[in-house]
Amino acid sequence: MVKESQEAKAKRVKKIIATLKKTYPDAKLALNFSNPLELLIGLILAAQAHDDAVNSVTQELFRRHRTATDWAGEDEQVLHAQLRTSNFYRNKTRSIQKACRTLMDHFGGQVPSTLDELLTLPGVGRKTANVILGNAFEQPAIGVDTHVARVSNRLGLTRQTNPDKIEADLVTVVPRSEWVKFCHLLQFHGRRVCTARNPDCPDCAINKLCPWPKSNRHSQVSTDK
Ligand code: SF4
Repeated sequence: MVKESQEAKAKRVKKIIATLKKTYPDAKLALNFSNPLELLIGLILAAQAHDDAVNSVTQELFRRHRTATDWAGEDEQVLHAQLRTSNFYRNKTRSIQKACRTLMDHFGGQVPSTLDELLTLPGVGRKTANVILGNAFEQPAIGVDTHVARVSNRLGLTRQTNPDKIEADLVTVVPRSEWVKFCHLLQFHGRRVCTARNPDCPDCAINKLCPWPKSNRHSQVSTDK
């Protein structure tokens, strides 16, 4: 098989983005938030949880807790009761309160807007930090979640499984101005068409730009049964 040049891959990525933008004109982050703190809390709650479930919990929580001080100062048992429908709610309560105490102690109660600072917050890894930078601060950033990782691999944009290495590959072929939108598009596509177990390649808008159906023809047949 002829190895695709970086230049050719970058051109293909532009076509993928253009097609997915037409397919999903409303693509955006699935979590509801109105400020960086709400996004931080939402991302902590979203670990191993569905975004819709997080949104239904945060709607009321964000009315009751508006600042890092509100979250850090809340009684732990009260938060447990408010979060009890979330999975791992005890651990998530602890993470939220620790992160908010760090915000109060080191950042004047505000969520910082640089990668290095965000990574000092307890429980905040590179994916979460990049999602906050891209969506709350409108900075170019690629947050590699499960959908971005899976669809990027199938599209042949990376062969890595480690999210940090996937991000390093993607930044070389995705135009910087599209980094955030690219993630939204792959998240939408990954939820609707390029699903983990049963990707609908025949009806996929970008199947002509994707090597996966050809390279996985046999496994695809068995998966579709
Ligand atoms: S062709 Fe199949 S594997 Fe490729 S992006 Fe579409 S659904 Fe995913």
